[in-house]
Amino acid sequence: MRDSTTFVPDLFGLVRRCGKPSCHCAQPDDPGHGPTLRLTYKVRGKTISETLPTPRAVRKAEREIAEFRKYREVSRAFVEIN
Ligand SMILES: [Zn+2]
Repeated sequence: MRDSTTFVPDLFGLVRRCGKPSCHCAQPDDPGHGPTLRLTYKVRGKTISETLPTPRAVRKAEREIAEFRKYREVSRAFVEIN
């Protein structure tokens, strides 16, 4: 198998902190100002991260990740059978 593109996507919420020491978000256990969703993935060993500014972009990313995981499980099952 050749060294093809590794696509390892993951979606996580990034807590936004405004940086003001007096703000509640400066506390380590504070939930901050609401998550900014980020998608990270690896292409050829390089980590790429994208912000997802809209709920629509988030849904699209979630769908792509679900498809990726499904594909990976299918190919794993295929390997086990053979
Ligand atoms: Zn703040």
